[in-house]
Amino acid sequence: MKLENTYYQLGEAFLQEIEPTPVLQPELFLWNDSLARELTMGSEIESNAALFFSGNEKLNGSIPIALAYAGHQFGGFNPQLGDGRAHLLGEVQLQGGDWVDIQLKGSGQTKFSRRGDGRCAIKPAIREYIMSEAMFALGVPTTRTLAVVTTGEELYRGLSEPGAVVTRVAKSHIRVGTFQYFSAKGDIESLTKLLDYAIERHYPSIDLLNDDRAFTFLDAVIDSQIKTIVHWMRVGFIHGVMNTDNMTISGETIDYGPCAMLGNYHPETVFSSIDENGRYCFGNQPSIMQWNMARLAESLIPLIKGEKDGVIKSLEDRILGITEKYLAAFNQMMNDKLGLLDSKDNRLVDQFLTLLQKDKLDYTQSFIELSHVLSQSDVTVTSVNREWVSKWLSVIKEGDVQESLVLMQKNNPIVIPRNHHVESILEQCKESLLNTSALNYLKVLSSPYIEIEQTMEFQDLPKDNDISYQTFCGT
Ligand code: AMP
Ligand code: MG
Repeated sequence: MKLENTYYQLGEAFLQEIEPTPVLQPELFLWNDSLARELTMGSEIESNAALFFSGNEKLNGSIPIALAYAGHQFGGFNPQLGDGRAHLLGEVQLQGGDWVDIQLKGSGQTKFSRRGDGRCAIKPAIREYIMSEAMFALGVPTTRTLAVVTTGEELYRGLSEPGAVVTRVAKSHIRVGTFQYFSAKGDIESLTKLLDYAIERHYPSIDLLNDDRAFTFLDAVIDSQIKTIVHWMRVGFIHGVMNTDNMTISGETIDYGPCAMLGNYHPETVFSSIDENGRYCFGNQPSIMQWNMARLAESLIPLIKGEKDGVIKSLEDRILGITEKYLAAFNQMMNDKLGLLDSKDNRLVDQFLTLLQKDKLDYTQSFIELSHVLSQSDVTVTSVNREWVSKWLSVIKEGDVQESLVLMQKNNPIVIPRNHHVESILEQCKESLLNTSALNYLKVLSSPYIEIEQTMEFQDLPKDNDISYQTFCGT
């Protein structure tokens, strides 16, 4: 495997060229075999993975860099963020032709570190691995994790914690915040370069010579984001920190810091300790995506020729158009989850969600139970409101019941990375410094729609409905 450095070639304004800081005692903790195969790593790298993916040894062709970006954090603009503890090692072309970034996180300080130590603790590192791979298996667009390497160093995070380096594989690390960075500085030359780079890499069907390409680009990013957020709503994922620096242009889910999974259905569910006002609660995710897309649209204004009011109106229309596009995609997804083959309206969906909320029922479990109603022809296997179930059944029976069941099984996971299990696995890993429990869990999460021997161990609901569960921005 030889790395290319196309982002590096964009020039100094985009990055800092900086080597990772070597770690004391790198040891491979988790390794993603199937992803390594996709990347065609080769045996030399694989047998020295701990050295390469801690930053102690350099991969062939790599020019490590930290990326500059800005971002709105909880609604407030920060013009200067950037990779404060990550190094982009370079890009690799997959067998299918797509390019991916290989990035280390927790690999040392950069000029963007501000007061941070540039490091990552073991629990957030393993969380990133477990959550991103779980999301991948669930069919959600996401960055992936190749490796977690422990460093043999202790970090101070309130208490002393073992350190680790995560290797992230992503379609790219270009964020809404990357566009904002150049736009806010008024660096139009770099902004143009960024647009063209992002188009070539992610949306190659857009014509680079077209003066209107910023509009087409925005439309494409919006479509990718809608797709991803609809998946989040499908599986009950709460990102936790949808700042514009954590929203990719590719549409991939990125930054598994304070993320969590929804238990009992309630749109206002929020677990992140710093999200005091519930800005990023489960049900707000679509409108926050829209808000973030508006920030992307604003940052593109300098790139669009034409009379200003007209340009702004055109961008506004695109942002406002998200509401309808999203709702259509959301309703289709919900109809699929309910096995409704050609629903003419969304009344059943709306009533269902209202009932789940009122009766405090578990989101994932309720869909599983409904599919059991079909597979076992028994309405007593669900806690969902009986009257609603009868109505739903009568609609299902108008069509092909078997087809409905297959559709439900495809769209409703039977196991998700439930908060209490993730926490318990992270704790076991940290205490023992052994990966056994994580490997066992990852095996289950890698087939979320199929029951394997160990699946049942991880399907139970949280005993206290996660009432006191809190997540933290993973530093
Ligand atoms: P995140 O919460 O991971 O999205 O990070 C937000 C910003 O803080 C990014 O610019 C990170 O690079 C930076 N950051 C987070 N943790 C650290 C750390 N331990 N050292 C240096 N920078 C950090
Ligand atoms: Mg981030």
